[in-house]
Amino acid sequence: MKRLLVLAAAATALFANAQTYPGSKPISIVVPFAAGGPTDRVARDLAEAMRKALPGSNFVVENVNGAGGTIGATKVAKASPDGHTLLLFHIGMASTPALYRKLQYKPLEDFEYLGLVNEVPMTLIGKPQLPANTYRDFENYIRANSGKLNIAHAGLGSASHLCGLMWQSAINAKEAMTTIPFGGTGPAMNALVGGQVDLMCDQTTNTTGQIEAGRVKAFAVTTAKPLSKHKLLKDYPSLQEMGLKGFDLTIWHGLYAPKGTPPAILTQLNTALKAALKDADFIKKQDGLGAVVVTDNRVEPAAHKAFVAGQIAKLKPVIEAAGKFAD
Ligand code: ASP
Repeated sequence: MKRLLVLAAAATALFANAQTYPGSKPISIVVPFAAGGPTDRVARDLAEAMRKALPGSNFVVENVNGAGGTIGATKVAKASPDGHTLLLFHIGMASTPALYRKLQYKPLEDFEYLGLVNEVPMTLIGKPQLPANTYRDFENYIRANSGKLNIAHAGLGSASHLCGLMWQSAINAKEAMTTIPFGGTGPAMNALVGGQVDLMCDQTTNTTGQIEAGRVKAFAVTTAKPLSKHKLLKDYPSLQEMGLKGFDLTIWHGLYAPKGTPPAILTQLNTALKAALKDADFIKKQDGLGAVVVTDNRVEPAAHKAFVAGQIAKLKPVIEAAGKFAD
């Protein structure tokens, strides 16, 4: 009898949660990088689209940056599983397990997967004062200035770090540059525009505006083929075209909740996410920034989790070959 009562109380609580969610408390989307960068940009646009999709909700974006996104991700892994704290993370969800010896969370065990959001190419860019204007000139310049240049990134395991590692290894220039970590590529971009660092590889969601305004120089895109449909980025070659065999890097973003978030709330959030990803405004903004919003089948939690598991397995040998780890 007592057991029955406990079960009934638990069921009522679950039902009440789903009925009253989201309530008046805001839903915080934690961005594990600095404000003003590409993940932040996606999160702010997504927050607006999700607000429209989830009646009565109020979304806020919280920047918790540092250590390649792992500080923010840890915060969400340990947050109360009540649907009021979510994480927007990118490929770092899959790269950091190979880089951090003492990671405070397990990507496949400590989160509920809500779904994939988008895919974003990257661009290799340099400060405006660089003498090179084409990718070929740029690579020659890097070799001629070995040991003298700085490459910015958003911390170990970040997309910019990963891209820089892969690119340096592909052109055999691992020792040619000093890496400078920032809390996100928002502040790194300011340093690049200001000429304090020499180059960076970053998502198009952060670079298109700066390239268009002539504040940075772009040399190549990281997708296997050039972005022939994008009005601005179509003018740049892919690294593969420039002779970097097999180079193909696309960044993705996913949305996650702490493990143990009630299933009814997860369903509400997943439904809202799917609706948000069909929001015409959101799609238009992402499109302009070179990002592609994914469709329903890739927003399924199980499909996204399987995708991340595959990415973890794929990135591990790439990162281990680069041989740089952190505690
Ligand atoms: N683009 C960054 C990265 O390199 C992160 C960010 O600032 O959004 O991972």
